[in-house]
Parts: sequence; C-alpha cells; structure tokens
Amino acid sequence: MSIETNDPELFQPMSAECLRQQEDLELIASENYVSADVLEALGSVLTNKYAEGLPGKRYYGGCQHVDVVEDIARNRALALFAGSEGVNVQPHSGAQANAAVYLAALKAGDTILGLDLSNGGHLTHGSPANSSGKLYRAVHYKVNDEGRIDLDQVRDIARRERPRLLMTGASAYPRHWDWAAFRSIADEVGAVLVADIAHVAGLVAAGLHPTPFGHCDYVTTTTHKTLRGPRGGMAFARADLMKGLNSAVFPGTQGGPLMHVIAAKAVAFREALAPAFTTYQAQVLTNAQAMATRLTERGFRLVSGGTDNHLMLIDLSDAPYSGKDAEAVLGSVGITVNKNTVPNEKRSPFVTSGIRVGTPAMTTRGLTAVDAARVADLFADALEQRDDAERLADVRAEVHALCGRHPVPA
Ligand SMILES: *Cc1c(COP(=O)(O)O)cnc(C)c1O
Repeated sequence: MSIETNDPELFQPMSAECLRQQEDLELIASENYVSADVLEALGSVLTNKYAEGLPGKRYYGGCQHVDVVEDIARNRALALFAGSEGVNVQPHSGAQANAAVYLAALKAGDTILGLDLSNGGHLTHGSPANSSGKLYRAVHYKVNDEGRIDLDQVRDIARRERPRLLMTGASAYPRHWDWAAFRSIADEVGAVLVADIAHVAGLVAAGLHPTPFGHCDYVTTTTHKTLRGPRGGMAFARADLMKGLNSAVFPGTQGGPLMHVIAAKAVAFREALAPAFTTYQAQVLTNAQAMATRLTERGFRLVSGGTDNHLMLIDLSDAPYSGKDAEAVLGSVGITVNKNTVPNEKRSPFVTSGIRVGTPAMTTRGLTAVDAARVADLFADALEQRDDAERLADVRAEVHALCGRHPVPA
C-alpha cells in the first residue's frame, strides 16, 4: 500500500519534485532540506490527534503522549535560544506566529512600524495586502543609500508616528540587526519591540548572528529556513507576556495544533543543539562570503555591498534584463532562485530588478567555499551568455554534475 500504487496521478508530481530537489541547485535563501528523522516525524500518526490547548490543559482526551512531545519541543526551543523565557511551538507558519503576536500586543487600528517590503521587509510587517496592514495602521522605515538600516531614520519615524509596536527582522536584508539600538528607540516611544528572525534563526541559535533575546519583548521565527526543521513557526515572549501570547495562538488565531509538525520541530531542535549544527551554520556563512566575493568580482552589485548572513540581494537595476528574466534563465540551467524587489525598485513586484540568493540549502548538501565560488561563476556565466543555447547547456550540465556529487541528505 503506497501512494505509488494507489494514486499514480499524485505520485507522478511528487516523485518529479523529489528528482528536481536532487538534480537542481537550490539558491532560494528561505529553503533547506530536512533530515530523514524530521520527515519521519512529519509522516507519523501524530497527525491524527486533536490537542487544542497546551500540555496539561487540553480540550481533548487522549493527549497524554502528545503532551510529552510538545513539552520536549518547548524545552528544546528554549535551550536553543539563550535568554529566551517562554515559547509557543504551535504556530503553523511564520505568518501565523506574527499574527498571534500582533493579536496579543495590539488593538485594531494601533500603529506598527516595520521595514518596508521592497526594502527587504516581509508581507506580515504591515503590507496593505496582509492582515497586518489591514487591521493595524502600518508605517515603514527604509534602508539608506548604502542599503543599510538607518537608526536615525527609524528614531525619527518612531518619534513622529508613535508606534505601539516596533517590528524588526526581514526576508531580504543581508546585514546584522542592532537590537540594543532598537530597544532604546522602542523605550523612548513606549513601543513593544518584536524581532522576526524567520531567516536568521539558525545563525542566532548557533551564536553566529546577534541575538534579539534580552532586547525584544517577542521573538517570532519560522522553523524551516536556516533552522532546517519542518515547515512551521513559533513565537517566544518574555515570561510575563506568555499567557497573552498563548491565548492569541489558540483560540485567537488557530485551532488544533499540528502535533506531527511539533514532533518534527522537536527533532530539528535536537539536531540544532548538536555541535555539528554550529559547524554547518559557520559553513553557511563561509559559503555566502565566497559567493558574494565572486559575484562582486564578476561585476554584480550586491545591495549593501555584501553580506553578514546567509543571503545576498543582487541589484540588477542597471542590467539589460529584469529579476524575472534572470530567474527564468537561471531556472533553465537548474539554478533555482527567486526574483526580489530591491531598494528604490522601479519595476513591479512580479518583474523586479533583483535576485535573492542564499547558501543554507547548498551547504546542507555539503558544498564548500570552493564550490560556492564556482556556483557564483555558473550564475554569472548563465546570465552573461543567456542568448547562447550551447553555453547554457554546458552550465546546466555542470550544475547537474555538481549536484550529483552532493546528494541531498535523507
Ligand atoms: C518567511 C518569513 C515569514 C513567513 O513565514 P511563513 O512560514 O512563510 O508564513 C515571516 N517573516 C519573515 C521575515 C520571513 O522571512
């Protein structure tokens, strides 16, 4: 009994996706490959269980075993982030974690101040397309001409707009965050300070990126990006804020928790607590430096001139092709990237003038700095010779050979 024999219609795209993940080179900064143990938990019978509420305080019977699972996940999450005080591991995604924090900290119509979407922020930081921009009054700070967050600008906007909540963290910002400085701005205007570390959580856990814990009232994250766990989210809060956060998750924004996913989060947190995870994150950074250096040598302009973390944003404003064009060319040679808006974007979000790339997935496959520099060359070759079908075929063959030498684990 299996999907392959029972449901060939569905099996076909599922196995094709499995092959795509093996054959192609994943440079999407928000993606990664989970371990076989994480997959085992995700495919477990824990998906059958309803467990509304929290361990020891459930609205359903039969929760004695999933209670233990959720407690293990919570304890490991707290162990992973020094200085954390309380956590809810139930948010189904990063967006759900943010929605819960807003519900806990704000009333409808309150002002939130976050990084502008086209400057690297996230939809859930007050975009008019997202509930965060519909239910709350959203205002935004931007990066300066050097592509960096300008704390003087943030302070000026905060003084003028008096936000109830100051949002930090981003989806496409390659530099460190100064959470102590944001704390002083939040204190000056009486705002709640939130860090969304969806992207850099793995680096923070490994001690290779400044930590928001000790500075922020709430910290949200995904579990599937640099943290290399199952698709999902979680939200931390100061001890005195946990009661409100918990009820904002359930019943505020969600129903029953996904207990199989929570088990998979627990697996990933154990993996992240092992010394090998720090080695992995250090290699993610080394590979990002190698790529950034080589891309710059090849004439690409990186927003902010480089990177402190796992990702970089390539500004194609002056190139004769758009982010959308570049995504298509790279896709044709087996290099998967996403187009991305850049600061001072002049094209639409569907076209864009940027490409975002990251090293977490390639590093999980075992690629080192030499490989990362070679990947940057293949990236540059494909774009420079985008009209030469023969040369593109050569690049594609080399990408597949590289991936063949570094199989996806699990
Ligand atoms: C990815 C991301 C999210 C959303 O995560 P989902 O799991 O896709 O909902 C939220 N905030 C930031 C900064 C992100 O990068």
